[in-house]
Amino acid sequence: MQIQITDPEHMHRLGVELAGRLQAGDLVLLNGPLGAGKTTLTRGIGEGLGALGTVQSPTFVLARTHRTAKGPKLVHVDAYRLGSALELDDLDIDFERSIVVVEWARDYVDGIADSWLSVNIDRSASDEQRLVEVTGHGERWRGVQLAFGD
Ligand code: ADP
Ligand code: MG
Repeated sequence: MQIQITDPEHMHRLGVELAGRLQAGDLVLLNGPLGAGKTTLTRGIGEGLGALGTVQSPTFVLARTHRTAKGPKLVHVDAYRLGSALELDDLDIDFERSIVVVEWARDYVDGIADSWLSVNIDRSASDEQRLVEVTGHGERWRGVQLAFGD
């Protein structure tokens, strides 16, 4: 499903809406170039989950964990400097009890999860426009409608 995003606030709202579909055990992989809006989207997910603390780019710490009002922890990973799925494994993430959002996920998912949601952000259009594609992979997302309002 493709969503035409018009500005940063719209991207944030998509995150809030996405959060409403997420539960403990879910893995969300964000792909898109620098400045695409991956952190902006994650901030929206954080708001939707009632995350404690500021959701900000985890570039220098690899992963940040937020407790949330909704229950499951929000684990926000920046995989940019991770070399492999093995290193993601090294972070010792409690996948079962968390909602895990990974920026720069690339293909690290192989071997770490059976199901995931991939969010690809295309920023090739002019200035604030983004084309976002949300795709479910695996049993968890089979038959789940991924339509989002605007
Ligand atoms: P990333 O994490 O992908 O590097 P960020 O969310 O940190 O991206 O930054 C995105 C930047 O682009 C922000 O400065 C934001 O204001 C700007 N921006 C412009 N248009 C959009 C949009 N439609 N969605 C998200 N961010 C946008
Ligand atoms: Mg970022």
